[in-house]
Amino acid sequence: MTAPDARGAWSILIEGLLDAVWLVDATTLRIVGANAAAGTLLGVDPGTLLSRTAAELSATPEDLAFWQSVANGWQDAIISESLVRRFNGSVVPVTRRVNRVESHGQAIYVVVFHDRSAHQATQDELEHRLSELRATLESTADGILVTDLSGAIRGFNRRFAALWNLPEDLLTQRDDAAVQAWMRRSVVDAADYGRRLAAIQDATLLQTSDVFSLHSGQVIERVTLPQCSRGQPIGRVFSFRDITEKLAASQRIEELSQTDPLTGLPNRRLLADRVEFALAMSQRNGHSFALMVVNLDRFKHINDTFGLGFGDRVLLEVTDRIKGCLRSLDTVARLGSDEFVLLVHKADATGAEATARRVIDAMSRPFRMDAIEFTVTCSIGVALCPDDGDNLDELMRRADAAMHRVKELGRASFRFHQPHADAAPRSQMQIDHAMRQALVSGQFRLHYQPQIDLGTGRVIGAEALIRWRDPVLGDVSPAEFIPLAEESGFIIAIGDWVLAQAVRQAVEWRNAGWEMPVSINVSALQFQQADFIERVSATVKAAGLPPQLLELELTESILIHDAEDALHRLKALEQLGVMLAIDDFGTGYSSLAYLKRFPIDRLKIDRSFIRSLPGDGGDMAIVNAIVQLAHAMQLRVIAEGVETEPQRQFLLDAGCHEFQGFLYSPALDVDAFEQRLGRSAPAVTKPSVRLVKG
Ligand code: C2E
Ligand code: MG
Ligand code: MG
Repeated sequence: MTAPDARGAWSILIEGLLDAVWLVDATTLRIVGANAAAGTLLGVDPGTLLSRTAAELSATPEDLAFWQSVANGWQDAIISESLVRRFNGSVVPVTRRVNRVESHGQAIYVVVFHDRSAHQATQDELEHRLSELRATLESTADGILVTDLSGAIRGFNRRFAALWNLPEDLLTQRDDAAVQAWMRRSVVDAADYGRRLAAIQDATLLQTSDVFSLHSGQVIERVTLPQCSRGQPIGRVFSFRDITEKLAASQRIEELSQTDPLTGLPNRRLLADRVEFALAMSQRNGHSFALMVVNLDRFKHINDTFGLGFGDRVLLEVTDRIKGCLRSLDTVARLGSDEFVLLVHKADATGAEATARRVIDAMSRPFRMDAIEFTVTCSIGVALCPDDGDNLDELMRRADAAMHRVKELGRASFRFHQPHADAAPRSQMQIDHAMRQALVSGQFRLHYQPQIDLGTGRVIGAEALIRWRDPVLGDVSPAEFIPLAEESGFIIAIGDWVLAQAVRQAVEWRNAGWEMPVSINVSALQFQQADFIERVSATVKAAGLPPQLLELELTESILIHDAEDALHRLKALEQLGVMLAIDDFGTGYSSLAYLKRFPIDRLKIDRSFIRSLPGDGGDMAIVNAIVQLAHAMQLRVIAEGVETEPQRQFLLDAGCHEFQGFLYSPALDVDAFEQRLGRSAPAVTKPSVRLVKG
C-alpha cells in the first residue's frame, strides 16, 4: 500500500465499524474520511462531512478547545463524554475518543463516536423511577426501613425517622448500629423485640407482622416482607405504623359495648358477665348473692315535665346515690331508662334488705337542680341466689316481678321474690300484644271505687279504674299495662273506651235515679290529642249526660308540659262543664302560679303521702300543706289510698273534704258497687250525692 493510499485503507477499515468514525488530517485538521455510521449519527450523507474542519463540527467548548490544542501541538488525544450536533440541530450524547495515528509517514486523527442516547434514556428512566419511588415512600403514612440481607440499613423514609423519634445526628451520619440500638432502646420490651428481630432476619423469606409498644406510649405495628430481585431475596422491607389511636378507639368501642353511655355504668352485657362470675363463685364456695332490680317511680313525669336533658341529670345523681350504697366489689348496672340492677355479693336476705333500705334512704333525700326541689322514689325487687334461681334469666325475672309487685302496692319500697307470686311471668311484648286483643274482644272492664265525704260519710262519687283479666296472662294490673300503653300510644284507644264506658255507666245510674259523678283517669298523650275536647264533648252529648257528672283526673305533668296549651284546653273543658281534678297531687312539679290560673275543681292527694299517716312527720306536714293550699284556692281536696281509721281521722282533722280507699272499699265491679251502696235493684230512693257545681 503506497502512501497516498493510507487514507483509502483507513476508509475501508472504518466502513465496517458500528461506531461513527471520522478521519481528520493532522496538518489541515479537515475531515478526510467518514463512515456510514458517522453519516447516520449526524443525519447526513457521509460525503458532506469531507473537507469540513473538525472544529467546525464541534458541539462543545471542550471539543473546540481540544482541536485548538491539537493545532498548537499541545495535545493529540482525548476521551470523554461529549455531545454531537446533528445537522438538523438536535444534540446526541456520545463517548468521543480521538487518537493520533501515523501510517506510511502520514499522520491522521481517528475520531470515534459511541452513541450514548439509548443508554442515556435508560439512565433517565431509572432516575425518574427512583424519584417516583422516593416520593411514594415519603408520602406513605407508614415508616419504611429497607435493609440488606445482613441487616445493614439501605434506606428509610422521613416518616420512619419521625415515628421512632430518631435524633438529628442519626439522620445525617450513616451509623446502622446506632440506629438499631436506638430502636431497641425505644421499645418497652427490648429483649422480646431483639428475639423477634433475630427470628425475622434468620428467615429470609418470612412475611410477618407484629405489634410492640414504645416507651413514648405509642403502639407500633410492624409488617415485614422480603425484598427480592430476579426471584432472589436481596433484603427486607419493614413498614411501621402507629396504631395507638386506632387501638384506643377499638378499646373505647369495646368499653362502650359494655357500658351505658349516659352513666358509664355496666350495661346488660357486662352485668351478665359479672352475674355469670358470681354464679360460679357461689357454686364453688357456697356464698349466696342478691340481684336487685331498682326502678324509679314516675320517672316519666320528670322527663315529661322538665325535658330529657333534665331527666338525664337526675339519672346521674341517682347513679351516684346508688353507688354510695354499695361496696366497691358490688355492681350497679343500668339496663334501661330508669331501670338499675344491683349485684350484691355475699348477701343473704338480711344483707340484701340492708342494701335495699340504704338505697331507699339515699333516694329519700330531696333532689335539688336548677333551683327546683323534688323527690325521686324507687321500687326495688330482690331475688337471692341460689334460693330464687341459679341463672341470670331466672333471677332477673323474679327480681323484676317482685319490683312490679312493689309498684302495684304503691311504689317507694322493696320486696323479695315470693314463690307463686310470679306464677305467670310475662314479657312486655306479650302484654302489648294481649292488650290489643283485649280491647277488640271486650276483656277490659271498669271497676268503680267509691269516694266518701269525710264529714257526712256519704258516697259522693266513684273513680273508674280499668281492670283486665286475660285468659292466658291472668289479671294484669293497670300499673303494669297502662305505662306500656302510654309508650306505644295504644292508651288513646283505651282512653276512648274508658271515656265511653264510664259515661254510659253514669247515664245508666242516672236513668235509674242515681246521680253518681264518675271520675276517669286521662293520660298525657290522650289529653294532648288535637281532638280530645271534641271527643269528650261528643261522648257526653251523645249519651245525654249532664257534663258535671263526669270528672277528668289529670296528672300535674300533663299541665306543666305545655302550660299555655294546657290552659287553653282546660278552659275549653270548663266551658263544656265537665269537672277537672289533679290526680296524684304532690308527686309532680306543679307551680302554684300555674295552679292558680288553671280552672281546677279538685286536688287528689297522692296515696304515697297517706300511707305513713299519722306517724310520719314529713307526710303529715305535706298533707296539711296540700289541704290548706286547696282551702286557700277554694278547691275541693280528696285523699286516695286511705286504708286505716287513724288515717281517716287525721284527714278529717286536717280539714280534708273527701277520701277513697280500702278503708271504705276497693274498686268494685258494677254489681258489687251497687250492692255496697245498699242498692241491689234499680233505685227506689235517691241516695244523696255530692252537690256538683252547675
Ligand atoms: P290512680 O289514678 O292514682 O288510681 C288509684 C289507684 O290506687 C288504683 O290502682 C286503686 O285501685 C288504688 N287504690 C285505691 N284505694 C287504695 C288503697 O286504699 N290502698 C292502696 N294501696 N291502693 C288503693 P289501680 O287500679 O291499680 O290503678 C293504678 C293506676 O293506673 C291509677 O292510679 C291510674 O293512674 C292508672 N289507671 C287506672 N285506670 C286507668 C284508666 O282507665 N285510664 C288511665 N289513663 N289510667 C288508668
Ligand atoms: Mg286516678
Ligand atoms: Mg292517684
